[in-house]
Amino acid sequence: MSSLPKIQLYNTLSRTIEELRPITSGEVKLYCCGPTVYNFQHIGNLRTYIWEDILARMLRQAGYKVTHVMNITDVGHLASDADEGEDKMMLAMKREKKKSEEIADYYTKVFFDDCAALNIQKPDIVCKATEHIAQMIALIKRLEERGCAYQAGGNVYFDVRSISDYGKLARLNLDKLQAGARIEQDSNKRNPHDFALWFTKSKFENQELQWDSPWGRGYPGWHIECSAMAMHYLGEQFDIHCGGIDHVPVHHTNEIAQSEGATGKAWVTIWMHGEFLVLGTEKMAKSKGNFITVNTLRENSIDPLAYRYFLLGAHYRTQLSFTLDILRNAQQGFEKLRSALIQLRAENSPAPMLSAAAEPFKVEFFESIRNDLGTAQALALVHKTLQSELPPSEKLSLLLTFDEVLGLGMAHWKAAQVELTPALQALIDARKAARAAKNWPESDRLRDEIAKLGYIVEDGAGGQKLKKG
Ligand code: AMP
Ligand code: ZN
Repeated sequence: MSSLPKIQLYNTLSRTIEELRPITSGEVKLYCCGPTVYNFQHIGNLRTYIWEDILARMLRQAGYKVTHVMNITDVGHLASDADEGEDKMMLAMKREKKKSEEIADYYTKVFFDDCAALNIQKPDIVCKATEHIAQMIALIKRLEERGCAYQAGGNVYFDVRSISDYGKLARLNLDKLQAGARIEQDSNKRNPHDFALWFTKSKFENQELQWDSPWGRGYPGWHIECSAMAMHYLGEQFDIHCGGIDHVPVHHTNEIAQSEGATGKAWVTIWMHGEFLVLGTEKMAKSKGNFITVNTLRENSIDPLAYRYFLLGAHYRTQLSFTLDILRNAQQGFEKLRSALIQLRAENSPAPMLSAAAEPFKVEFFESIRNDLGTAQALALVHKTLQSELPPSEKLSLLLTFDEVLGLGMAHWKAAQVELTPALQALIDARKAARAAKNWPESDRLRDEIAKLGYIVEDGAGGQKLKKG
C-alpha cells in the first residue's frame, strides 16, 4: 500500500500540516459530526458537509478505502453547546407541537435531500444518537471505573481534572480559565469546566426523551454521543475527525477528554476544522433567524451546484462571506463552465489515454487537492484545462477525472432549462411593456435585473428569448 499518493492535511491538534499516515495501511477511518435535526440546515452548515465530502472523495480517488461515519443528533444538544440552555429538540417540539421523533425524521430527510442537491455523497454509516444509548451508558460506566466521572445532584459529570491534558485541542489552560471563570450556574460541578455525561430528570421537567440507566432515568449529554458512536463504528483509535471551527473549544475538546479518559490512549490522529460561512459580515445562525437554506437558493434561481462551485473558490479553513448577489455572480461562472463542458461532451468521448502534454495538468490538480484540499487551485486547473491547447477528448477526460473529487456532477450535466419563477416572469412582462412603450433605459435596466437572476435575454423577431447566463 506504500504506493498510495502522499496526502497532507492540516491538523488542528498540532496546528501544522501533516502527512496522513493511516493506522491501517491503505484505509482511512473518518468521523464527521452530523446535524442536530431540530431545524433546517443552513448553507453554512452545508459548507462544512461539502468540504468533508470533498475530503472523502479525494481519499477514495487516491486509492484509500474510506469508512465515513456521520451521526444524527436527535437528543441532548443544548442551545449553548455546553450545559446551559434548552435541549434543541425540545425547543422544536414546543415550536412545532410535534413529537421529537417526527421532527427528527422530517429534518433528517430534508438534510439528505439537500445533500443530494449539492451532490454530497451519503456517508457509509449514518447513526442516530437515540439508537446508541446503550453504547453511551457503557462508555460512561467505563469513565466511572477509571475515576473520570462523578455523580452529583442526580447527574453524572466528567471530571476535567482527572486527565492531565484537558483542553489540548483548543490549547485551553485550565488554571488560567479557572481564575477568570464566570460564576458557574451548576453548583453540582466540582470544576466549572466539568460537563454532563448523563442528565436525570433534574435538568428539565417533562423531558420526552428518557432512558433507564444505572444513574436513574434520564438522557445523555451531547458530547458523549459522538465519542460512543465514533468508537463503536471506528474503534478506539482512528484517523480523521472533522467538524466546524466552533466545535474546537467545547464539543471536540470534550469528545477527546471522554474518549481518551476511557481508553488511556490517544484517540484520533488528525482533527480537521472548517471555517464559517458568513452572510455579509454576520455569522449565519439558526438562533438569529437569518439563515439561508438550499430552498432559499432555489427561490432565488440559484442552482445548489452553483453554490458548491462558489465554495470551491475559497479554502475550507478561511472564513467566507457571501450575499445572494455574490452567489448570482458565481452562478454565471458556473453556467459558463457547464455550457463548455456540455459542448465538449456532445462532440467528444473522453480520451482513454493522456498525452505527455496533458500529464502536468493532472499532476498539478492532484498536488493541489492532496495538499490540505486546495480547492481554489484545483478549480483554477479546471479553467486552465478548458482554455488549453489540449485535444478536446483529453480535456474532457481530465475534467471528468477532476470532478470525481470536486463533485460538481459534470458527468450528468444537461443543458440548463429556463425555470420561470414568478420573479423572472414579472421582469419579462415588465420589459415587454417597457419595449412596447419604447422606454429603452427601463428595458436595459430590466435586462440587468434579469441577468442578476442568471439569464441572458435576447431580442428577436419572436420577442424576448431567455438563455442561462
Ligand atoms: P449543528 O447542526 O448546529 O450541529 O451544525 C452542523 C455543522 O455545521 C457543525 O459541524 C458546525 O460546526 C457547522 N456549522 C455551523 N454553523 C456554520 C457556518 N456558519 N458555517 C460553516 N459551518 C457551520
Ligand atoms: Zn460530534
